Amino acid sequence: MTTLENGPILSATNKSDKMDKIVSLCKRRGFVFPGSEIYGGLANSWDYGPLGTELKNNIKQLWWKKFVQQRDDVVGVDAALIMNPKVWQASGHVATFNDPLVEDKETHERFRLDHFLEENGVQVAGMTFEQMVETLKKMGLRSPKGNELTEPKKFNMMFKTNLGPVDDEDSKVYLRPETAQGMFVNFKNILGTSRKQLPFGIAQIGPAFRNEITPGNFIFRTREFEQMEIEYFVRPEEWEKWFEYWLDQQKEWCKEIGIFDQAVFIEIPEADRAHYSKRSIDTEFKFPFGQKELYGLAYRTDYDLKNHQEKSGQSLEYTDPQTGEKVLPHCIEPTWGVSRTFLAVLTSAYDDSDPENITLKLPYKLAPYKAAVFPLLKNKPELVSKAREIYENLRKDFMVAWDDRGNVGKRYYSQDEIGTPFCITVDFDSLEDGAVTIRNRDTKQQERIKIEEVRGYIMNQLM
Ligand code: ATP
Repeated sequence: MTTLENGPILSATNKSDKMDKIVSLCKRRGFVFPGSEIYGGLANSWDYGPLGTELKNNIKQLWWKKFVQQRDDVVGVDAALIMNPKVWQASGHVATFNDPLVEDKETHERFRLDHFLEENGVQVAGMTFEQMVETLKKMGLRSPKGNELTEPKKFNMMFKTNLGPVDDEDSKVYLRPETAQGMFVNFKNILGTSRKQLPFGIAQIGPAFRNEITPGNFIFRTREFEQMEIEYFVRPEEWEKWFEYWLDQQKEWCKEIGIFDQAVFIEIPEADRAHYSKRSIDTEFKFPFGQKELYGLAYRTDYDLKNHQEKSGQSLEYTDPQTGEKVLPHCIEPTWGVSRTFLAVLTSAYDDSDPENITLKLPYKLAPYKAAVFPLLKNKPELVSKAREIYENLRKDFMVAWDDRGNVGKRYYSQDEIGTPFCITVDFDSLEDGAVTIRNRDTKQQERIKIEEVRGYIMNQLM
């Protein structure tokens, strides 16, 4: 049995030409590298390089600004990744956070039963585990290598480890499979410290871990990833209104980051909903390898607070400050995956309609560098020093690239490929007239503007 699988390092998928181009651009320009590459990689583990780190941070910062900083009714938390295991018993994850698994008896290759059946033409939507097992047997399916399959079983996806030096049942803990429980277990603390009244939300950005049976499609499905989640607490009778509200917010977010045109909103039937959800709408996205889940929206009822209240013995009721009435709030949960957002943004932005001038048309707010500064010639100290002055000044406010290699045309193409919205060239005239040429990534138009106006010009367009 292999648990530590090596590469294949760069063939993240062979299903799509566009995907291969994106994966290769990510490697070539320093967005995403195969994890642990000098040791041959580790399957489905990816490291974010200098540009990828900027893009990912920009996604998270934009989200935090929109949903926490600019709202009165949402506050943030940053909870521990390893929580008391009782949390995962109360939340239902120990009992039900399972994926159905089958294994090739010869090669020990493992497959997710639902995905395996789908690939064999079965509509699994709405099927129970038992129905899937029956279908597999009736169809007499064998593994892709033609071997017999094991009896399907339910595989719990939580990563287990031990806290402290003793490796026994009592020290067993889990890496959190979702950020959500960090909000529920802090509900009482936050009520006591933030003076929030219903409706209000708790937001968190952070890692989650799932021992996925079939990770893949580049960074789409990995075993560690980050989530951006809000648990929004409401009066039980108002859940429908707030569900619609958060669906609109998710749509607005998709517009803001330029991915709305390829997003699809899907009502999830009861049999396919997570164990805690009474209503779910997934945002799916048309990735180059197919339409797949990007975000989720769930009505978690009072499932979590009720269970934590029962299991912890602590009251998690909210007391209305006006009437003194006590209520156990219900919860609407909009959730966003960071790496899937990253991939959706790259997919929407990637434009190779001119193969000589590949351009990442990223929203300006998300671009790793907002501007690049070039001295026309590298060997003219007066040009270099003027350009350096502009560069140092601009990077007090945002990330700026510096390039003095080759000709300016090549430098433009190089910046277009990583999505830099503005390129600023300092030439001999600049030394006389105090102006520079500023060139736009999307229109390819060039304008001449005064050096002291450059910062304001760019800042205005980043708003
Ligand atoms: P899927 O059906 O694709 O496994 P899910 O329905 O289990 O996803 P949720 O539990 O709703 O996912 O998690 C919330 C969000 O976290 C997802 O919408 C997705 O953006 C992200 N996410 C979930 N699992 C992964 C993963 N293995 N890799 C990357 N992102 C993930």
